[in-house]
Amino acid sequence: MNSFSYTRASDVSSAVHAVTSEPGAMFIAGGTNLIDLMKENVARPPHLVDITHLPLNRIEELADGGLRLGALVTNTDTAYNAAVERRYPILSRAILAGASPQLRNMATNGGNLLQRTRCYYFYDTSTPCNKRDPGVGCSAINGFNRIHAILGTSDQCIAVHPSDMCVALVALDAVVRVTGKEGDRAIPFADFHRLPGDTPQVDTNLRPGDIITSIDLPRKGFAEHYAYLKVRDRTSYAFALVSVAAALEMDGDTITETRLALGGVAHKPWRNVDAEAMLNGIKATKDHFEAVGEAIVRGAKGFGHNMFKIDLARRAVVRALQHAARGARTGRSA
Ligand SMILES: Cc1cc2nc3c(=O)[nH]c(=O)nc-3n(C[C@H](O)[C@H](O)[C@H](O)COP(=O)(O)OP(=O)(O)OC[C@H]3O[C@@H](n4cnc5c(N)ncnc54)[C@H](O)[C@@H]3O)c2cc1C
Ligand code: SF4
Repeated sequence: MNSFSYTRASDVSSAVHAVTSEPGAMFIAGGTNLIDLMKENVARPPHLVDITHLPLNRIEELADGGLRLGALVTNTDTAYNAAVERRYPILSRAILAGASPQLRNMATNGGNLLQRTRCYYFYDTSTPCNKRDPGVGCSAINGFNRIHAILGTSDQCIAVHPSDMCVALVALDAVVRVTGKEGDRAIPFADFHRLPGDTPQVDTNLRPGDIITSIDLPRKGFAEHYAYLKVRDRTSYAFALVSVAAALEMDGDTITETRLALGGVAHKPWRNVDAEAMLNGIKATKDHFEAVGEAIVRGAKGFGHNMFKIDLARRAVVRALQHAARGARTGRSA
């Protein structure tokens, strides 16, 4: 048994102080990922700093017309918030496509961003895993890698980031607000998560001790033309094999702006702005969407069991864009 100590923080600065005072200490929010990792002996924090009583549990309007999602608002309260549903329906759809109602009731927005990969070997401490123990090797590259990445991989790690919410957030150009030892800063969502490279143990660009305080959504929510498509083994309570967040601005049947992000394919929510730009100023046709699908998987690499994802991703992009182009009433999660 691993023993650990526990404190409950009452304000943000004391939370940062508490977590930086003891090496290896971690924040705990809803606990839906961290407790599992502790039970499996993958995470062994000597000290837990409970942040659930911090005043980060509100959704607030921003002066620029955007919306601030507190880091401790639950995934359920975020998905069903009236402003989120009306102005950022792609985010509601993405959240509700994830986990189960019970989990979403506990899971927080900050925790969702920092959930760890679902790579089987990462959770199995009897197998080598560079993310768990840097330098020991990756069991997935030549192992059972059906759920693994096809884009942005390295010879150290081919894990994927499992979140649905994050796929919508990167498409929306959200900004993550954090407080750390050196004060507050803002991280564009596209720069928040990392590719594995030579340091697969590092998932994000947070610094030690940083606490996420909010996720800020810009004014533009693409509420008219959007889709969140999640392809998975079961229609509920399963992580994405491939997911696509597609958002369009349209003038008649001409596309004026495109946002496209994929989940289940890379170590971070995957966005390809060059592929997005291919659609701007042209008609929303299947041929054009197919060209974008091809562009997104160009350079994709399978590792055996996950080869099917390359074609799946290409086709999911086309289907999501078709849903989005048809308009809000059909821009559903699936
Ligand atoms: C069976 C199961 C199925 C799931 N299915 C899906 C799915 O389909 N799609 C999906 O997207 N997710 C899914 N999830 C994941 C779930 O959404 C996450 O576990 C949850 O969002 C994590 O939030 P939490 O508040 O419980 O985080 P915790 O478990 O409390 O913390 C997770 C990590 O975040 C850190 N942390 C938490 N809050 C902060 C903060 N404010 N600042 C800094 N660090 C912080 C903790 O230190 C820890 O490292 C599933 C989970 C389970 C258990
Ligand atoms: S893919 Fe990454 S998480 Fe999975 S075994 Fe390899 S190093 Fe570990």
